[in-house]
Order: sequence, then structure tokens, then C-alpha cells
Amino acid sequence: MPEHMFNQAALDFDRAHLWHPYTSMTKPLPVYPVASAKGVRIRLADGRELIDGMSSWWCAIHGYGHPALDAALMEQAKDMAHVMFGGFTHGPAVELGKRLVRMTPEPLQHVFFSDSGSVSVEVALKMALQYWQVAGRLAKHRLLTIRGGYHGDTFHAMSVCDPVTGMHSLFAASLPQQLFAPRPECHFDGEWNPSDLDPVAVLLSKYHDELAAVIVEPIVQGAGGMWFYHAEYLRGLHALCKKYGVLLIFDEIATGFGRTGRLFAAEHAGISPDIMCVGKALTGGYLTLAATLTTKEVANMLSSGNPGVFMHGPTFMANPLACRVGCASLDELERCGWQGRVKSIEAQLRRELEPARSMTGVRDVRVLGAIGVIEMEKPVDMATLQRFFVAEGVWIRPFNRLIYLMPPYVIEPVDLSRLTSAQLEAAAITAKA
Ligand SMILES: *Cc1c(COP(=O)(O)O)cnc(C)c1O
Repeated sequence: MPEHMFNQAALDFDRAHLWHPYTSMTKPLPVYPVASAKGVRIRLADGRELIDGMSSWWCAIHGYGHPALDAALMEQAKDMAHVMFGGFTHGPAVELGKRLVRMTPEPLQHVFFSDSGSVSVEVALKMALQYWQVAGRLAKHRLLTIRGGYHGDTFHAMSVCDPVTGMHSLFAASLPQQLFAPRPECHFDGEWNPSDLDPVAVLLSKYHDELAAVIVEPIVQGAGGMWFYHAEYLRGLHALCKKYGVLLIFDEIATGFGRTGRLFAAEHAGISPDIMCVGKALTGGYLTLAATLTTKEVANMLSSGNPGVFMHGPTFMANPLACRVGCASLDELERCGWQGRVKSIEAQLRRELEPARSMTGVRDVRVLGAIGVIEMEKPVDMATLQRFFVAEGVWIRPFNRLIYLMPPYVIEPVDLSRLTSAQLEAAAITAKA
């Protein structure tokens, strides 16, 4: 849209009629009109530029308007924007499927494309539930997870989000009741204490006959609290699931494609789940797309018995535009040498966020891969910080007690320094308030 079109009337319409994520329709926080975005810079309608610290909720790993991704989109639009996946297939779906099967752990061989992360979680949960139905184990219909998780905003995904921050009380009457183990205590970089696994081991030994699956975000819990836990916990959980005959689902929507320093967070523990969800960075930040991958064993079970098919099929399944851009995003990931980039972002985040550790009001500072978190003692004031960040020329969107960065992998050190200094100042502002 030409800049002159974004006037006060447009903002007024937005405020009166458009919902933004997790906001009130009557008392919304201010929003900033964006005119364009290029590289790591987001350009506001008034001409100001913000350095992006969020990768648009962790998707835009190559920055905005990347030439290779733009070209993939334009090329694909010439062939076809969309065609139904029922009864048809096409190059972009096959090419993206090949890349996913090749990049993910070897046992994951079958790909179900869907249109968002939440839906890919619903698909994963349906796979697990249908698996036990077909196996004749009708009692196995519950799910277990750990507190502090986030898996999406649709109903079954919501039922395995953290019960407190996930708003379970609001929908108590219509949410399935799942089992929750405490959040793992042992930090990713800390010492391993085997008793961390005791609570989840007790739950599994007691309820395994009712449990279809355990679902967790491996290593990094994202929107539930930016918590990094020990790889031994994941290995132990994997062994317990095997022991008790419960499927294991990894939600790698936030962690997948290099964010934690490994291609997938499961690699920190050297294990593979039965079912895995990917999204966000898969899209390169262009068009909504996600996928659920599973093993031969699960796929064979879902394809036997009655009904003999897996019962799901979104209208926009394997959308060609999204798949073509997804291929370009994964190719660019390999081409750009993501490991080196994430490593140097990690080193810089560690160096530049270290001073926050001794600040009053700061509870914890943690860095893993291209994720840098300052956890405060008390919740931040969103309205104040949003204004502050925009005035500083950066885009950082904290939540609750967390002021964090998930920058695009292409960010240059000078730009990253501007983000970390704004992050430190925001911590000081929060501590003083
Ligand atoms: C963002 C996210 C989701 C939900 O994805 P949407 O595309 O927003 O539906 C699910 N799980 C995790 C771990 C996420 O970070």
C-alpha cells in the first residue's frame, strides 16, 4: 500500500474493527503501521526503521524480501498459486517433502502438510489417538505433557499448553483434561540431576494404560516461558515412553531449522520422536505452512484396520506457493551456512547480555543458539517498553517477565548490538518501575 494511504483514518478503522493477537477490542495497545520490510529492517509508514529482533514470531530467519525466496514465490505464481491436494500432487510438495525427510531424524519418513503450527499439532495428536484406536487399545486416549509448554491456540493444542498461562480456567468445561508433569528443573547448561525425571516417571507408570502420547517442545520451551532444559531429561523421557508403550511427540515448531544451534533440538539429545511437528522457520516468514512427520510404524498403523486412512485433509494442504517458498527457505538455510551464523549470534548474545546478570530486578539471563533471554523478577509493562523500543529503532516484543531476542540468522553484529543494548535498557526500565 502506498504510504500516503496509511493515514489516521486507516489507524482508526484498525482500532475499531480489527483484532490483533491476544488483545482487547475496546482497549487495544497501540499498533504501528508497517509500510515495508527488507533484510532485518522493518519500515514504518512514517519512514522510521526498526531493526527486527523477533523474526516475526521466529519465522523470518533469512530476513524480509530475500531475493531467492521472492523469486521462488514469483516463479510459482506463474505456474499455479494453488490446487487441491486431494487426487493431485505437484513438484513443490514433492520437493519440500524430500527435503524434510532428508533433514529430519532418519526414522521420520512420512509427511503430512498443513496450514499452521496449531493445526500440525492437532494432526500429531489425532495421529497418536487414531494409532491406539486402530491398535484396539481404546483406553489410551489421554495426553501427558510438561508444565510451561506452548503448542498452539486450537482446542486440543490448548489442552496441552501450560494450564496457568494457557488459560485453561477460561475453557475448563470444554477442554479435555490432560496430565501435567512439573517443568524440568535442570537447566540446559547446568548439572544433570536424575531425580528431575521422577515426577514424569511416576505419572507414566501410573497412567500409561490411558496414555496415547507425551507431547513436549524439545530442549526449549518457547512461548510458555523461554525455558531451556537438560538434554538428559529428553533422553530419559524418550526411554520412559519406550518402556511404557506411549508415543512421543516433539513440537519443533519454534526450535526447528537451526534456532537452538542444532538443525533440530532433538539432536541435542541424539533421539528421534515417533511424531514431529515443524512450522515457523520452515516458511521463511512468507506463507503459512507446517508439517507433521511420523515413522513407518505409525503410518502403517494409521493405514490399517478401520477406517484404514488418516482422517484429516485441510483445504490448503501442501499449498504450492508455500511449499515452493519453503524449499527456497531450506535451500537458503544450507547455502548461508546457518551453523556458523547461529554460533556467532550465540557468542555475541552471551557476551553482550552477561552484564544483565548483575542488574537488580533480573532473575536470570540465558542464551542458546540464536535465542537470548533476560528474565525479570516481575512482569514487564508492555505499553511502556513497546514505545521505548520503537523510539530506539528496534523491534522487540517482550511477554510476561521475559525480554527476549530471536533475530533473523542474517543479522549483522552491529545491528545485533543495538538489539542487545535496547534489551539491557528495557531491563533497567522494568527494574525501576
Ligand atoms: C508458534 C507455535 C505453535 C503454533 O503455531 P501457529 O502457526 O501459530 O499455529 C505451536 N507450537 C510451538 C512450539 C510454537 O512455537
